Amino acid sequence: MPILAHLDLDAFFAAVEELEDPALREQPLVVGGDPHGRGVVATANYIARAFGIHSAMSSAEALRRCPHAVFVRPRHSLYKQYSRAVWQTIAEIVPRIERTGIDEGYLDLASVARDFVGARTVASAVRTSVRATTSLTCSLGVSTSKVVCKIASDRRKPGGITVVPPGHEARFLAPLNVRLLPGVGPRAEERLRRAGIETIGGLAGLVDAELKALLPGSIGPLLRDRARGIDPRDLELAGETVSVSAEDTFPRDISERAQLHAQVRRLAELVAERLRDSGLSGRTVTAKLRYGDFSIRTRSATLPAGVDEAKVIGDVACGLLDRGLGDRPGALRLVGVGVSSLSPYRQLTFDG
Ligand SMILES: [Mg+2]
Repeated sequence: MPILAHLDLDAFFAAVEELEDPALREQPLVVGGDPHGRGVVATANYIARAFGIHSAMSSAEALRRCPHAVFVRPRHSLYKQYSRAVWQTIAEIVPRIERTGIDEGYLDLASVARDFVGARTVASAVRTSVRATTSLTCSLGVSTSKVVCKIASDRRKPGGITVVPPGHEARFLAPLNVRLLPGVGPRAEERLRRAGIETIGGLAGLVDAELKALLPGSIGPLLRDRARGIDPRDLELAGETVSVSAEDTFPRDISERAQLHAQVRRLAELVAERLRDSGLSGRTVTAKLRYGDFSIRTRSATLPAGVDEAKVIGDVACGLLDRGLGDRPGALRLVGVGVSSLSPYRQLTFDG
């Protein structure tokens, strides 16, 4: 039986800003866009949330609700550094992880715990270790499937661990607002609400004909399964990603070398960002060249150590592009940059 956890950092962007400037800790803090423009709230700290401020609200509305709130612009590269430290720490306790966002992901606790008692201990160790190494707090939901874990991690924020043992999944979900079920968007919620279904249990209890009428297509049975706590999705492990790449077809074929290099470096940045988001680095860099006649050349180089930096990937890929063009000159319709031979950075930590 699977034993999974969903981990979610608490008010992540706001928590990082508070660590960087402890004076913000005592004030309502909103991380997001310009409150005097068309900005949107990315995250608010818990003091600001008490004023009814939440993510995706317009910053202008947040300012109306709390005129003395402090507004700061998001600093994504800083958040990525913290996120990286968090996932590195987690990987030392639970090696099988799937990051699903900068501040959340799933852990395979069955790889380290025998049962749900052990799973609670591991979840608690993860929480303690995240706190000790980064000063950030997180919440976890522990259960048998992704959907139940995801909902459970949100029940005792901040800093809570919610364990839903096997056999209790449907009972745990039943009284919760149907809106909390991942996959139920505003439209589905509205249709369900008009039919008098406000809880996940209500959705779970629908018979086929009702379900078909309310939620046409294949989404209905899928959501009803999830409402019953049935969710066979496995973790998608970082190690299973074979390569990360990006490519671009030009509006016009390009032969000018400096222009091609600029394109390659731009793609290298995208690739590097995706690698870092997934907590991966790779040793093999590949450049793909598609000529005006649609023929393709690829050139690869394998490096002594894994890379996830745009500059390094760009340098290597530009060299490969030059080599490819040296072998066969011509105008290119497309260039691509890829990185493979991936490993999670956990391995890099241990192997140097
Ligand atoms: Mg979060």
